[in-house]
Amino acid sequence: MPSTLAAPRTRTGLALRDVTLTYPDGEQRLTALDEVSLEVAPGEFTAVVGPSGSGKSSLLAVAATLLRPDRGQVLLAGQDAGTLSDRARTTLRRDHLGIVFQQSNLLASLTAAEQLLVLADLRGERPARARSRAEELLASVGLDPAKQRRRPHQLSGGERQRVNIARALFGEPSVLLVDEPTSALDHERGAQIVDLLAEVTRVHRTATVMVTHDRALLGGVDRVLEMADGRLTVGQ
Ligand code: ADP
Ligand code: MG
Repeated sequence: MPSTLAAPRTRTGLALRDVTLTYPDGEQRLTALDEVSLEVAPGEFTAVVGPSGSGKSSLLAVAATLLRPDRGQVLLAGQDAGTLSDRARTTLRRDHLGIVFQQSNLLASLTAAEQLLVLADLRGERPARARSRAEELLASVGLDPAKQRRRPHQLSGGERQRVNIARALFGEPSVLLVDEPTSALDHERGAQIVDLLAEVTRVHRTATVMVTHDRALLGGVDRVLEMADGRLTVGQ
């Protein structure tokens, strides 16, 4: 597909065009994504709902340019990931992408604030500025200063998820990808996390995609898409 198809509104957001992804499956190939197209503009909160095995995590892995699709195009902040070198793709991810993985991957030995500050170290950001940014971000997702000094095991599941979200935002991404953020939480805490993601999307103007199997938790979402057997359709 010619890249001229990239609509202006997605220049700083996310676009997938006719993306097909297969995995090896014995002698055959399993089609995890089947001609999937998706556009998410800055400040838009899109939910993708579907049962386990429908291809939701695969969708995020392709959108994150961590998996290369068999066919189709992935545009992140206006750049066609398929045309970039590995190195340029890594830079694109670093500069434009925030990811909240399904498995929390907070480091057990670090406090909440330090989970963010290690990223600043990697980027060579000045420590004083990084610290104040980390404190502000963590406070904005609902973690007060005392909790910012706690390690993951001293926080609740909901608080850990807030740290994950703050960490994903620390690099000021234009695209935020979130995999099943509520699966380990009760209904009330899950609803609070979805509300937080809606707020974050508005405040930080991220193009946000949240995948979930939980249809009960879609408050504040701008748009719901359905995923079934690797195909994406517009929801009710
Ligand atoms: P979901 O996140 O909706 O549960 P996934 O994207 O994880 O769905 O999986 C979609 C399909 O692809 C499933 O049939 C799954 O078993 C298969 N799959 C996922 N990852 C791999 C892999 N690395 N190798 C082979 N098959 C996979
Ligand atoms: Mg999954």
